[in-house]
Amino acid sequence: MNILVANLGSTSLKFRLFRFDGAGGAALLAKGGYERVTDYGKAIDDCLAELKAAGHVRTPADLHGVGFKTVLGKNLTGCVPADERVIAALEGFKEIAPAHNPPYAAGIQRFREKLPGVPLVALFETAFYQWMPEAATRYAVPQAWHEAGVRRYGFHGASHKFVAERSAELLGRQDIAERVRQLYQAGPTSVKGRPLRVISCHLGGSSSVTGIRDGVAVGTSMGLSPQSGLPQNNRVGDLDSAAVPFVMKTFGLSIAEVERQMTKESGLLGLSGVSNDLRDIRAAADTGNARAQLALDVLVHSARHWIGAFLLELGGCDALVFTAGIGENNPDLRAAFCAQLEELGLVIDPAKNNALRGAEGEISTAGSRAKIFVIPANEELVVARETVRCIAARN
Ligand code: ADP
Repeated sequence: MNILVANLGSTSLKFRLFRFDGAGGAALLAKGGYERVTDYGKAIDDCLAELKAAGHVRTPADLHGVGFKTVLGKNLTGCVPADERVIAALEGFKEIAPAHNPPYAAGIQRFREKLPGVPLVALFETAFYQWMPEAATRYAVPQAWHEAGVRRYGFHGASHKFVAERSAELLGRQDIAERVRQLYQAGPTSVKGRPLRVISCHLGGSSSVTGIRDGVAVGTSMGLSPQSGLPQNNRVGDLDSAAVPFVMKTFGLSIAEVERQMTKESGLLGLSGVSNDLRDIRAAADTGNARAQLALDVLVHSARHWIGAFLLELGGCDALVFTAGIGENNPDLRAAFCAQLEELGLVIDPAKNNALRGAEGEISTAGSRAKIFVIPANEELVVARETVRCIAARN
């Protein structure tokens, strides 16, 4: 079964082609992409021509599905056929995700025209959060705002769901891993045995922390948009809403300019004044740049704030997991995230931690009550797997 995963940006199309064997194993057959795309139709033709020339997809009939990691839709979430309902839902929330929703709506439309008969699947980044308790989703806003869609949605759902599944396997809870695999088709099925409590930290270009009980999200640091929660690479993260009218009046800024500064000049870039990339920030901090060091400290403080929130919400945890570029590759930051949590049952092993970069493994001591894991993210593979599950459930 050949599954194409299409990653649509405002001017780019990136793709990966996976081949699944009957046993659920997947091989990456091809990857590539196009920049400065003005015509998605042409980019799709070029992509198919490339896959044909490489001998992977001779005709569209050799393609068994296309998966899209859509961000958020109005009144729609889950892992669902990418049809006109999905396009309308993306358009309905284009103001909340202006960089993501319009290209996905346009791109899905073009894939539908170009590949009639090939199943298209949308995996919303909000999908993992559809069973959060209502109290965890509500902002204290006027009812009309809430009804217009102002609430906490949650993002990085593909990544956190993968962590939920993989951590359950690593903890020997095949029942919970299977529950997670079936989640988007069957909903949260009944569970027996001890509750499994996992805190998943996706720390990368954008970052979020999610609390997971028995494979289902109970809360997230992300809010209405992916601008919320932890400081992001160049996006602000959590901010008191009073700051917006204050800077508008103080600096005479338009709302568009405030929005631009909050999404392009804030986050780790705004804090450090150096870069939006953690490697550059660390290099600057190592040479004594105080603002760069502060950016790292703020990231650690914010991540610990949310880890703490979910430790309480879950009543403890069985595993704390780090994933994505920052979480996978920075042992010193992982040590800082886990500092002084011994009383709470989380004890990091310095030798195991320092030795592990970019690979899966356990970094807690043998005596630690809860495990600390690194689980590499591979979001395209997650989208491909969910696409296979969605297609199988429909057939
Ligand atoms: P994206 O959200 O863009 O997919 P990633 O998950 O790749 O982002 O994470 C990007 C972040 O991870 C950057 O801040 C980068 O500096 C950091 N990162 C990636 N690889 C490494 C590495 N080998 N060492 C240190 N930091 C890294």
